[in-house]
Amino acid sequence: MTTTESGPPPRARRRRERGAGERSEPLGNHCAQVVTAEVERADPVAGRRERRAEALRWRSRLWGWTSLPRLRNCGRVTHTRAGGPVVRMSEDETGARRTGLAGLQSCGSPWSCPVCARRIGARRAAEVREVVQAVADRGGSAALVTMTMRHRPGMALSLLWAALSAAWSAVTSGAAWKADKAAFGVVGWLRTVEATIGENGWHLHVHALVVFDGPVSHALMEEIGYGMFGRWERALERKGLSAVAERGGLDVREVQMSADSLDRVSDYLSKVAFEITSPSTKDGRHGNRAPFALLRDALATGLADDCDLWLEWERASHNRRQLTWSQGLREWARLGREATDEEIVAEDLRGEDVLAIAPESWPSVREDVSELLDVIEVDGVAAGIRWLTARGAGWFVPGHHQRGDDQDEDAQGPPRRQRRRGVPRRRGGR
Ligand SMILES: [Zn+2]
Repeated sequence: MTTTESGPPPRARRRRERGAGERSEPLGNHCAQVVTAEVERADPVAGRRERRAEALRWRSRLWGWTSLPRLRNCGRVTHTRAGGPVVRMSEDETGARRTGLAGLQSCGSPWSCPVCARRIGARRAAEVREVVQAVADRGGSAALVTMTMRHRPGMALSLLWAALSAAWSAVTSGAAWKADKAAFGVVGWLRTVEATIGENGWHLHVHALVVFDGPVSHALMEEIGYGMFGRWERALERKGLSAVAERGGLDVREVQMSADSLDRVSDYLSKVAFEITSPSTKDGRHGNRAPFALLRDALATGLADDCDLWLEWERASHNRRQLTWSQGLREWARLGREATDEEIVAEDLRGEDVLAIAPESWPSVREDVSELLDVIEVDGVAAGIRWLTARGAGWFVPGHHQRGDDQDEDAQGPPRRQRRRGVPRRRGGR
């Protein structure tokens, strides 16, 4: 099953005993994740840095054993041989410095790359928020419909996912759906897939936001939900699967159109679909883990089962859309064309180039580069220069940047035209 070329990540690979518990899990709630997010809100800047450091660390650990060639190069390989990566800096709305790296390849995987997932997820979450806001502004209403499928232990994720896609097509096509759409004033839907892994295998849920062009009562929302669930169930049965009916296979919630609630619902959808931080094994609901929690465990323990499951996850999720829109909903919500995952990660970071790392020095610092970003955000570019110099890494300051407050070292002296400073080339190692 393992397809790694350079072997598994850490330590000894041990087999985990598979338990023989329940076959299906009830629909989850995401309390643990919400609590985590609230704790981080206490110090958002530190929380953001911590999450970034974790994402960069996970990605660098994946370089050696991921099955995805683009992920292997993501954040590791520069765009061109000639240039090294450049630290770009901007200020957020509070005036705090924000840094990022430009000039590196990006893989654009919303499912498997911890770094790209953060960037893509932030964009998708903002778009979900815009749709919900449009519903409120235009006097519409919305329901959050979640549907779950039952699975047999050990079923391949790719099979489950294919069944899910087919079932969702059945939900949103055909005469019954057309009739429901007309009767209830359905404008459209957007949907995302949540996957978790438990002792009995993979669980997939569809979370859909169904948008109505006017007020619709909760009872009517449930009615349309039952209709959707009926088609869902029948389509799954045709694939030899079934839905989880009495145990919470269907959940229909009315989205309240207050500002607070709009935030909650877009937060909810974002968390289940786009948030890469999730509870560890211990905190997870019913022992179910989100894929990135699985990755964290695989990296921490090197359990063969976890490593294999992660590789299965990479293969099964690859090239699948994370957020799917019904035709016309984006136009209705006055959103522009949807950017692809690749376009989102390829977009230039905002800000100005403040420090370039010599290409030959990049391999020696890239696994710790989150430290460099932190140092520059906290103490300024000069501190970043000291950080690189202490590691024997070459660097230079790209032309024309204006801020000289904590960058006096750079702001004074000769014009800043690609001045190469201090450290000789060809010194890489730490
Ligand atoms: Zn990536």
